[in-house]
Amino acid sequence: MKLDTIVKGGTVVTPGGTFVGDVGIAGEKIAALGSSLDAPGARIVDAAGHYVIPGVLDVHVHLELPFCGTVSADDYRSGTRAGARGGVTTLIDFAIPYAGDSLADAANNWLKKADGKSLIDYTFHICITRWNEHKDQIEGMVKRGFTTFKEFMIYESEGWQSDDRALYGTLEKMREYGTTLLVHAESARVLDELIARHHTPELMKQYGARLHPMTRPNFVEAEAIQRAVQWCEATGGNLYIVHMSTGEGADIIRAAHARGVPVIAETCVQYLVLDDSVFEREDGHLFACCPQLKKPKDVERLWQGLRGGEVSVISTDTCTFTREQKAMWEGDWTKIPMGMPGLETLLPLTYTHGVLGGRMSIEEMCMKLSTNPARIMGLAPRKGAIAIGADADLAIIHPTRTHAVDPSAMETNADWSPFEGWDLAGFSRTTISRGEVIVDDYKVVGREGRGVWLPRTPGLGTGDWGLGETANGARSRGRADAGSPVPSPQSPVPAGTR
Ligand SMILES: [Zn+2]
Repeated sequence: MKLDTIVKGGTVVTPGGTFVGDVGIAGEKIAALGSSLDAPGARIVDAAGHYVIPGVLDVHVHLELPFCGTVSADDYRSGTRAGARGGVTTLIDFAIPYAGDSLADAANNWLKKADGKSLIDYTFHICITRWNEHKDQIEGMVKRGFTTFKEFMIYESEGWQSDDRALYGTLEKMREYGTTLLVHAESARVLDELIARHHTPELMKQYGARLHPMTRPNFVEAEAIQRAVQWCEATGGNLYIVHMSTGEGADIIRAAHARGVPVIAETCVQYLVLDDSVFEREDGHLFACCPQLKKPKDVERLWQGLRGGEVSVISTDTCTFTREQKAMWEGDWTKIPMGMPGLETLLPLTYTHGVLGGRMSIEEMCMKLSTNPARIMGLAPRKGAIAIGADADLAIIHPTRTHAVDPSAMETNADWSPFEGWDLAGFSRTTISRGEVIVDDYKVVGREGRGVWLPRTPGLGTGDWGLGETANGARSRGRADAGSPVPSPQSPVPAGTR
């Protein structure tokens, strides 16, 4: 067999099981899996003593986003370089229509941002912000290869908010086309009221950035998830809850799955490793993101939900703002640009705190970071798993070697990190994207602009694939994966060590 590259001797994680051996690459595709592959002239990438895992899909990213009175600081150049260093080989951003923009205008605008800059492959969720105008444009976007849409239950002042009529109507269309609606679920009116009640000079002086978590109690998210799930159940349209941050949310998803409702939930890695005690810090305002960090009990419930199947995907909601941008708040928490850098640390945080922390197996991690997101977003079987015929997107990580998080040495344009000084394993020693080495010895070597836009076809939404086979052969209804997918007798790192 003609092979261009052989990744040799690694612990290879596939949906069918984990084995020590080789991955053979021909052109842009995985062409062979075996124990001692050989091909004259093939480039050898030594993976001995390392895990070889599928490239990560970060399906919740905002690059160069105009937001909160400024523009997020990572663009398609810095953002995708950061992703590559963190083993991310595919990202999905959100194309948001502005002013009188159509859905097509939004997609074209975001295609321009990525063109010539992106190091890794990408596509966009299409945001529906004005239902009356946009509803008849959905079908055209599906035909163009955009099969996931997004609505916000908040952000009225940005002109992004969708009401129940829009949610209900969009979910009906999702059912018709076999596509999926992503929803930012927070209860707008109650949130506005709580913010208004606290927006006084006295309280701002007394509590500062702590007003951010204080004005978003858990029920703000829980009520909105419950309502969106109700419309999902009523219409049968595929629903995906983005950045779920509360234990209450996980409980609602669990109950919905028990009724066979086609809802899927994502969390972001910051909700798994940080809680709102960071707002006590002098620089606590840096940690403002939306939704905000919650309590330790929520953190625990979300980890439990990853095991139990209530949480199917881990992403980042990357929306980078520098210290200078964050300083725009000047003591008024409602003016803090909301968001954090994330692409570069998604895999290291999940690996270190999940796998090395004894909370998930390496196979479960790959399910949540690669396989599930690819399936749910309509990118499987091309993306998301090490399998013959799939794109050769790989991350090669050392099981224990750590790097201290140091913003000055990172690819992101952020001059701070929520995880500064943390020792993390799982940075990508080698990242391969469609057969090409783009990170070598922890350094980005790939060419900017080599990433491609990924067309998708409908019919691979939450409802369809959630009813199918999971990695461990178990049938599961309405959820991504049940329990532990694959036992890993050969894992070089014993669970529970750090
Ligand atoms: Zn977001």
